[in-house]
Amino acid sequence: MTDMVDILKKHGVRPTKLRVRILEVLISSGKSFSFTEMHKHFDEKQDRVTIYRTFNVFYDNQLIQKVVDVDGIVRFYYCREQISLCPSFRCRECGRITTLSPLPEYYRTELAAHAIDDVLLLFSGICKGCKEHHGH
Ligand SMILES: [Zn+2]
Repeated sequence: MTDMVDILKKHGVRPTKLRVRILEVLISSGKSFSFTEMHKHFDEKQDRVTIYRTFNVFYDNQLIQKVVDVDGIVRFYYCREQISLCPSFRCRECGRITTLSPLPEYYRTELAAHAIDDVLLLFSGICKGCKEHHGH
C-alpha cells in the first residue's frame, strides 16, 4: 500500500484511495485493462468516468502505458521501465502482459531525433505458461 503511494507521488499523482487501488490492481495482476474491464473489476461500483479519468491521469504522468490491442480496444498496463520504449507481449489466453527487453541504445538514439507521439510495440499470442498448460 505504502509502495503504491510512493509510486504515485514519484509521478506527481495525488494518491487518492481509488488511484491507489487501481494502481495496485495493475501492478499485482500484471495484466492490461481497458476502461470497461477495470470498471468490471470493481463490480461496477466505482464511477466509470472516475476510472476513465484515473487512467488518463496515470497515462499523462507516464505511470502506465497504453496500447491499442489486437482486438482494437485501448488497454492500459503498468510498466516499470520509465522510457516508453519497452516492447510488450500480451497473452490472449490469460491476458497477462510481459515486458520484453528494452530496445537497444542505438535504436533509442535514432528515435530521440524525432518527436514521438505514440509507441505501439505489442506482440500478441499465447504465453509460455498457457502454451505448456495446453500442450500446444
Ligand atoms: Zn497466458
